[in-house]
Amino acid sequence: MKFNKNLQNLKNYEAGKPIELVVREYGINEKDVIKLASNENPFGTSEVVSKGIAEISNKAHLYPDDSYFELKDALAKKYNIDVKNILIGQGSDQVIEYCVHAKANENSAILTAGVTFAMYEIYAKQVGAKVIKTTSQTHDLNEFKELYNKHKDEISIIFLCMPNNPLGECISKDEIYDFIATIDKDVMVVVDAAYMDFASYKDTKMQIQPDDLIKNFQNAIFTATFSKSYGLGGMRVGYAIANSSVISELAKLRAPFNITTLSLKAAILALSDESFVSKTMKNNFKEMIKYENFAKEFGLEYINSYTNFITIKFNKENSSQICQNLLKKGIILRDLKSYGLNAIRITIGKSEQNDKVIDELREILK
Ligand SMILES: *Cc1c(COP(=O)(O)O)cnc(C)c1O
Repeated sequence: MKFNKNLQNLKNYEAGKPIELVVREYGINEKDVIKLASNENPFGTSEVVSKGIAEISNKAHLYPDDSYFELKDALAKKYNIDVKNILIGQGSDQVIEYCVHAKANENSAILTAGVTFAMYEIYAKQVGAKVIKTTSQTHDLNEFKELYNKHKDEISIIFLCMPNNPLGECISKDEIYDFIATIDKDVMVVVDAAYMDFASYKDTKMQIQPDDLIKNFQNAIFTATFSKSYGLGGMRVGYAIANSSVISELAKLRAPFNITTLSLKAAILALSDESFVSKTMKNNFKEMIKYENFAKEFGLEYINSYTNFITIKFNKENSSQICQNLLKKGIILRDLKSYGLNAIRITIGKSEQNDKVIDELREILK
């Protein structure tokens, strides 16, 4: 059977390893596994959310309100925008997919940083679009400009992952605005803000506010998620914010009921529990220092992170080997070999988890 030719050379996304795998393969108790591989929230699910979804667990037979009005209304208030500026997706992954499918095709290209969120490339290749990347691993806006000018006839979408996953760097709002101002209005600029709340907590210069962004740029799309700071990775809820004319085009790609009755409830309740998010932020940047100190002590390069993870590059040791050794001890980290880096991305965990990870890493390196 012949398939769409765009699928021929398309690789699957390599997700972080699950807890179940470590339990199955190494016989480690589930409660002893430390998973700091997928940038999930180390505090788990907020109690407000887990109670709320338990209360409606007998409503699984009902489709959700497909307008997602209550969730959009809460987001509209949070960001000072209109519900017409919001599209809800099954994770922000899905709204990113809609962006690509709405704008890119065989005759066009997307432009991204050298090392960035892998799904941009995968979605682009699905529709046969070309992927142009900077030679710089992190976002270098001068190189973005050069490549944009060079491939102006082809580029239909520019992805700015702010802050960037899997590296963690961020660029100030002013620099991002100056850059977007040089881009043609017919080119879509996606600001993937999956970790923007972490970045603005660390340094307000990084803060891009979606209402302001879309007022200034009719071609900009802000995407965000409940998976990281709100602790709802397993619920799969994300959203896009853009001008209503953009949202109405993206909405044509959406299947009905693309998030579940329980996910919808979870996201609404998560927005009401800001104390959970602030606890997350405080822990994150306090604990991150431990990893920075560890890297300094061993002369390892790390990237100054504006996210809930830190990426550490290794010199002579092999990152895959280190991850494999840690896996046997029940510690799951993210090897970045598939991104062409001899580096490991570590999600910032709770204090005792980070201490354990650093102890084990010390043991391996010494
Ligand atoms: C986690 C992540 C997403 C998507 O997360 P969802 O769980 O699909 O909402 C998007 N972009 C980046 C950069 C991410 O790290």
